[in-house]
Amino acid sequence: MEYPALGEVVDLTELPKLDEKVLLNELKARYAKDKIYTYIGDILVAVNPFRDLGIYGKDASDKYKMSKRASHPPHIYAVADATYQAMMGHSGNDPNNQCILISGESGAGKTESTKLIIRQLIELCKGNTQLEQQILQVNPLLEAFGNAMTLMNDNSSRFGKYIQLKFKHGNVMGAKISEYLLEKSRLVRQSRGEENFHIFYYMLAGLSQEQKQKYSLGPADSYRYLSNGAQCLKKHAERLSMAYEEVVNHMDLVGFNADEQEDLFVILSGVLNLGNVTFEMNDHEAAFVTDKTKVQAAASLLGVEAKDLEEVLTFTETFARGESIRRNYTTEQAEDSRDATAKAIYGRMFGWIVNKINQLLAPKEILGPEAMEIDILDIFGFEHFERNSFEQACINLANEQLHFFFNKHIFFMEQEEYKREGVDWTEIKFVDNQPLLDLFIAKPIGLIALLDEESQFPKATDSTFVQKLNKNLQGNKYFIKSPNAKSDLFTIAHYAGKVEYSASRWLEKNRDTIPAGVLELLQRSKNHLLQLVFKAAFTRTGTLALQNRSSKKRTTRLKKGTPDPVTSKRKLTVGTQFKNSLQVLMERMSVATPHFVRCIKPNNDKLPKAFDDAYVNAQLLYTGMLETTKIRREGYAYRPLFSDFIERYDILLRQPRKDDDKAACLQILQTAGLNGYHLGKTKVFMKLHHIESLAVKLEEIS
Ligand code: ADP
Ligand code: MG
Repeated sequence: MEYPALGEVVDLTELPKLDEKVLLNELKARYAKDKIYTYIGDILVAVNPFRDLGIYGKDASDKYKMSKRASHPPHIYAVADATYQAMMGHSGNDPNNQCILISGESGAGKTESTKLIIRQLIELCKGNTQLEQQILQVNPLLEAFGNAMTLMNDNSSRFGKYIQLKFKHGNVMGAKISEYLLEKSRLVRQSRGEENFHIFYYMLAGLSQEQKQKYSLGPADSYRYLSNGAQCLKKHAERLSMAYEEVVNHMDLVGFNADEQEDLFVILSGVLNLGNVTFEMNDHEAAFVTDKTKVQAAASLLGVEAKDLEEVLTFTETFARGESIRRNYTTEQAEDSRDATAKAIYGRMFGWIVNKINQLLAPKEILGPEAMEIDILDIFGFEHFERNSFEQACINLANEQLHFFFNKHIFFMEQEEYKREGVDWTEIKFVDNQPLLDLFIAKPIGLIALLDEESQFPKATDSTFVQKLNKNLQGNKYFIKSPNAKSDLFTIAHYAGKVEYSASRWLEKNRDTIPAGVLELLQRSKNHLLQLVFKAAFTRTGTLALQNRSSKKRTTRLKKGTPDPVTSKRKLTVGTQFKNSLQVLMERMSVATPHFVRCIKPNNDKLPKAFDDAYVNAQLLYTGMLETTKIRREGYAYRPLFSDFIERYDILLRQPRKDDDKAACLQILQTAGLNGYHLGKTKVFMKLHHIESLAVKLEEIS
């Protein structure tokens, strides 16, 4: 048998020899020929080209429609096709819900892959409906508000998303998006070389002079919250201005009305202006607003009285025994309260946008049991910066969870099944990351539980939190405490590498409290939209709820019997909510048929045509690519029950069928002239080529 030349192997399971180096060289050689896609059995590996390869046009789209996988080179469209066919029950299984899991580091190409898959899925079921168009417009909208330029990726998703496409008889009937953990801290602070969410730059570049005046907007470099982006605005004014036009366009198409759009931009301008409010301390150590005109501008845009806004930013008032007690803020506390307010506003606006999109895309009729779903998970990739905080810990926990799901599905469940069914099988070892999940989510001494516990102590500080971790997790080999006892740093040895975290502000981010008084104030806003989002509590399943812990003042009022829709449910911490929503997600995915896309980042400089061996090799190692290839080479991806197999293929028999199910399956497989399959106790074990040969036979006789 002759083997294909280097770089011509479309499926890594067909490599004659398997080791890390062979895998790397094959992917590298393929990448050099612009063959960015490669299969590992039914898994797609995608190496980011960082340039337009012109391979996603109509030709490609048509070519991969209802096609046999082996007849064309590997492609992301083939994944869409396989998923769609599987949902329809065209590929040897009963119709079933499907999910596509896309993983890879930040900047590896997950979001682009997601968009391409959705585009092709819409092509596959195309009925030229308005809904289809709306679904396609949603992504650019979400990206404008939820993506930002980071060191890893110029268009980095700063939230995770789970998209559910709902089908009936193969036609798309609706869609739903769940959003995970928007990185709100970016709104008020960005690391060096990074930017705020795209929408602010789009706005400043795209709004007319007149509109800017109306929204009290000045030049970009006048905003503290945009400290890093002002230059970008000068350099790319035209592109950004076009992006603004597009966002407005998409909002129109998706169905945001003019009032809503106007309110939205007013609020965003209000947020920018709020960021410019600064404080000083008077002789009594009480913070006051330095420049009243700034607070006036912000207040007027946010639809509240300047005096009221100033008050909630500079002191709290609590009521005890009929007396009001005023506690003045320090400058630092006032700044924190300003930033927390801005983050709360932005977070709720984002939640509202997602909610609105979901209303617009919801199925127009009640879908019966024949409805099917294709779900696509595009979470934030593994992150490892110079400085890593609470957000990175959550993001990396999500990646641990996803990796665990992959392992469970690819290695654990499959091998268990071989054992159960008596398939002759040599166990393939894999690195189980369960201990890391435990480190994060075990109770009572997992990282999140410890954080929650500490978050309940009003007097806790960053350093008491680190001490708590050091004390409770010291026996855990994946937790490495800093040699410096005073340091607020600690390291976690993730499956994808060691990450050093700084504990600074974790408690505050985990509590995510809206400053006392701010909620009441914004609920009275004259801006209709702002009022709405602070009155409503979006309860979106699988999504971080946006409720906030009640302040003392409000608790008192609640006792008097005023129902408060926002606080009637006990507020969970951000860490716990996130942990729970990941759990819900995993459960939902485990009842669907999964498809995996593994995105690889070829270099750390966002460069085309550059393949950094060491960098890629690290990714291959920690994703377990070699073990995956081994199991896909030896394993049987198609495992129908005897009865299902018979029902589907007994038409191929030219003589009467044997009574015994197992014997009948053997009879069918022999009639079809196949070999290399295995018959277990209840199931037939086959590879892709078996299924494809059987499909050919079916076609021949029909
Ligand atoms: P992730 O979501 O994994 O962080 P993205 O999907 O946003 O990464 O991709 C990062 C960047 O890489 C994109 O903005 C784009 O420039 C480039 N890119 C990714 N996939 C492709 C592709 N298939 N073709 C061309 N460029 C791509
Ligand atoms: Mg992304």
